[in-house]
Amino acid sequence: MTPLWVTGLPPAPSPRRPEPGWWEQYDVLMRNPREALNELQAHLAAQFDIPFSWVIAAPESSFAVPPEASATAWLVPEADRVVVAVDLKQPASLVAEMLLHLCAHLTLGHVRPGDARGHWDAPASLSPTPHRHWDREAGAYVDAHFARSVRRVSTLEECSPREKAWLVLFDHIGRMVGQQRTLHLTTEAYQAAAYQRQAAQRLVAQLDEYGGAMLCDGVGLGKTYVATTVAVHYANQWWDQLTDTKRSATDDPFRITVLSPNSVVSTWQREAIAPLAAYGVPLATIRVISHSKLSRIVPSSDILTRSRTAISDMEHLLLSDLVVADEAHNFRSIGARRTTVLRDLLRCPTSAPVGQIEGLHERRMAGSS
Ligand SMILES: [Zn+2]
Repeated sequence: MTPLWVTGLPPAPSPRRPEPGWWEQYDVLMRNPREALNELQAHLAAQFDIPFSWVIAAPESSFAVPPEASATAWLVPEADRVVVAVDLKQPASLVAEMLLHLCAHLTLGHVRPGDARGHWDAPASLSPTPHRHWDREAGAYVDAHFARSVRRVSTLEECSPREKAWLVLFDHIGRMVGQQRTLHLTTEAYQAAAYQRQAAQRLVAQLDEYGGAMLCDGVGLGKTYVATTVAVHYANQWWDQLTDTKRSATDDPFRITVLSPNSVVSTWQREAIAPLAAYGVPLATIRVISHSKLSRIVPSSDILTRSRTAISDMEHLLLSDLVVADEAHNFRSIGARRTTVLRDLLRCPTSAPVGQIEGLHERRMAGSS
């Protein structure tokens, strides 16, 4: 018996994946789909092989198909075409995904003109394992033919004009939020973690711009070390300025005050501040003051007491170039004594109480909570 060899069968059509430009245009149309139903239809028709007439309509049109409470999309067969309707009030990404799903149904012939029944979809139809057979088929079709490829670009030449425009915009925003600003080089020796240096950079940008900044990272992200990186930056900037202006450190000391909860005052001193000496931060002019010292101030309070050789904590705070409020949420209660005191102190013109000290830097206040 002679085996029958069949040759010359056309190869299975290879999936025609959309070009990046197709996706780009699809996303543009998705920004205002209600105004672009015809364009969307043409855009999808160019990519899906649907062998009959179909239109996209807003779901307000009346349909013969009984509405399903959770339905957000419908395929409604008419005599000579199929009407595709999507609830356009959903998020654009969902609408975009749903339209692909519906077109996959049409391509697969699930609903055709003249059919007695249509098909409806809910967001669950788009889940990785939808309930119904048709939806699984449509999902597989979209996965096979419409997976968005992830493009890796290594040079500017590979970018489209639109992408170049975005890069310029991002660069601009980056400058505005301070990502381009360079911390003092010493901070790189002090802080190896890029994340914490970036956070410090943002804080410095905000401090320079507004004179105050909040650091609100979660537990364990090293807020203390972001704050000390900021201290290293400003201390070294101060050294550079002294050199430029040929002044001495005693003429114009660089003061830092850390306001900390009682429970961590010694941790600040021992673990956070002590190592800063190796990075140019003058330890003699850093003080850690507990929040509670700000709460009750009477003429005999510690915070107001001068020693024979040193100014009081209150004066130190007033003269500080950088004030770090650890656990700053302790200052959020507007009526609380310590909040009032801190607010008034930091608003106070720096020359008022101790006018003989000049050359004070603009005071900066960094809060972390
Ligand atoms: Zn479906």
